[in-house]
Amino acid sequence: MPSYSEFSAHSEFEAPAPAVSADGKIRCDACPVMCYIKPGLAGACDRYANDNGTLVRVDPHILLERTVSEGGDLVPFGGTKGWDGSLVPNPEKFVTAIGAGTTYPDYKPAPFIVSSEVEGVDMVTVVTEGIFSYCGVKVKIDTDRFVGPEQSTVRVNGEAVGHVTTGEYGSQMLSLGGVHHLTGGSKKEGRVTCDALLDLCNRKPVEMTVDGGATLVIEAGKAPVVNGQLEQRMRVGCGSATIGIFARQWLGKADEVVVVDDHITGVLSEHQAGKLLDIPDTGIKLKGRRSTPGRYFQVAEPGTGWGGTNIDDPLAILGPFDPKTAWPGLRLLMVSTTGEHHGYYELDEALQPVRRDLPGALVESVERIAENCEPALSTVLFIGGAGGSLRAGVTENPVRLTRSVKDALTYVTCGGAPVYVWPGGGITFMVDVTRLPDNAFGYVPTPALVAPIEFTLRLDDYEAMGGHMGHVRPLSSLRQGVDLAQRADNPWPFAPHAARRSHG
Ligand code: SF4
Repeated sequence: MPSYSEFSAHSEFEAPAPAVSADGKIRCDACPVMCYIKPGLAGACDRYANDNGTLVRVDPHILLERTVSEGGDLVPFGGTKGWDGSLVPNPEKFVTAIGAGTTYPDYKPAPFIVSSEVEGVDMVTVVTEGIFSYCGVKVKIDTDRFVGPEQSTVRVNGEAVGHVTTGEYGSQMLSLGGVHHLTGGSKKEGRVTCDALLDLCNRKPVEMTVDGGATLVIEAGKAPVVNGQLEQRMRVGCGSATIGIFARQWLGKADEVVVVDDHITGVLSEHQAGKLLDIPDTGIKLKGRRSTPGRYFQVAEPGTGWGGTNIDDPLAILGPFDPKTAWPGLRLLMVSTTGEHHGYYELDEALQPVRRDLPGALVESVERIAENCEPALSTVLFIGGAGGSLRAGVTENPVRLTRSVKDALTYVTCGGAPVYVWPGGGITFMVDVTRLPDNAFGYVPTPALVAPIEFTLRLDDYEAMGGHMGHVRPLSSLRQGVDLAQRADNPWPFAPHAARRSHG
């Protein structure tokens, strides 16, 4: 266990005074593990510690400060400064759940239920660090490269932590965590899954392998590494889309262009874009399955070569040119959907493609494909469910919180970041982990992830839903915390309420 003295700041966690045993140990009751913690040490999750007989939340409580005022300057996100406790107008501060602590069992009121006045309206924000035993992450990996067959198991340190799910629009997708891996497998599987989710959510790199596929290094907000290769670019579109975008730029500079793509390979002369530009037939023949004119599926197997296929030689996807149509000297450009791979050929007298240097007239078009690709990133979305027992810390009548969220009377944030709440039952939300402050996620060894969640609503709505009114306290009553500037691209959490009022 780490020594509590390693930590320089902690929140003013206000648990009922825990029982202190004769040897000075205290019992933490913030989660089902119920650690006995020796003086000067932290509990199993490193979140709570015994500070001379007082149970304290180790990490500082994070408050967000609105950084944009009319005519004001942006304050860079990430810088921290101690909060001297001085009062500023309430709308300028938002209490997050990061470092606020957890209450257990759930019927106890959330750790902080904070009132503030926003543009003349009394608001309340209920914050808690929720324990999410069934949570997961969805990972979007911007790469054409084959990461593994759909439904294949994804492993970390040999343990199954999730699977490859449907790839969409030039990105490979993973679904990791969830109830079956966190709690439904072996103890080790649950622990490894929890560790992997925690690192991904806190934006640390995680190495994983896909059964029958690639080794990946994923770090939220950074380029993915596939089989040791750092991915640079996300494709501009599928092969057909690339033909559609650049057809005019190839006119007169090449007789035929093939854009190699594992999903849809495009052929200029057959494609509608080529037809509209009166590009003549070339007698080219592609392997694979023709979908519609100039659009071919399955020209090769998936892989880490050209355009997410397994080929290194693009001519491998061509059959012989039709001698009735093709002609010696025919100029052929073959290019991948990122421009990373390209080759230029001219047909000889036997109508065989012969590789030549890329003519200057085509260099720009290839460079433009690359230029139009966005940087490849790994995106990690945390998915948590706040529609269960956690609601009891907000209201004595939990279903009213669910209804209030669905009715958009209650605004849900995760560490001050905006979330997407899924339609349907429960309060299942997704959040981009890069929009939260650093190290906003924690864990408990049950195993489960700990994530901040805040509910912001009007005070009168809170009272009407059966909120814990006796525990509402003003913002000014919080004495310890660390201010962070709210990211400029995150909406201010009170703003949706102000907007709703202004629209009646
Ligand atoms: S794991 Fe953490 S939250 Fe749970 S009882 Fe131990 S110290 Fe408290």
